[in-house]
Amino acid sequence: MNQRELLAILRKLGPEQVIDGHELCPTCDSLSPSIDMDGETIVHCPICRDKGIVSTEEAERWRQEMRERFGTQR
Ligand SMILES: [Zn+2]
Repeated sequence: MNQRELLAILRKLGPEQVIDGHELCPTCDSLSPSIDMDGETIVHCPICRDKGIVSTEEAERWRQEMRERFGTQR
């Protein structure tokens, strides 16, 4: 299975579904590079490097980072 096929399947399954240790990138939902607020700057995803797929470890690391940054203590 190549990356393209994997991405297609993961998109169908939705976020946080894991195949072969990979899941959809949690930050960009796997679309092409997004455009910044100024409408010109292309923002490349630092997590998946615009591939749309990350390993579960990378995704988990990112989620952890977000939890730390924004805090979800209750
Ligand atoms: Zn991404």
